[in-house]
Amino acid sequence: MHMTPVVMTQPLTELPGLVQCTCCQQQVLTTTEHKAGMLTWLVCGFVCLFVGCLGCCLIPFCVDSCKDVEHRCPTCQQLLHIHKRL
Ligand SMILES: [Zn+2]
Repeated sequence: MHMTPVVMTQPLTELPGLVQCTCCQQQVLTTTEHKAGMLTWLVCGFVCLFVGCLGCCLIPFCVDSCKDVEHRCPTCQQLLHIHKRL
């Protein structure tokens, strides 16, 4: 059996990942930043409706697992990927 080496490009999730930057053409480990996304607003609305507590609906904005994740190149700050929760 002949094995050919395969370059694994891992799919980007909420964790920093190795990608080739489209801007500077370097293999880089992305820097991640959590941004409020669709799911954040949905959870916010849901909490508002069913808990009825105005302060509680802001909780999803403090919970990173409810947010989208932006991946940027650490070298040139190019936005490479947005990991969406929905
Ligand atoms: Zn870059």
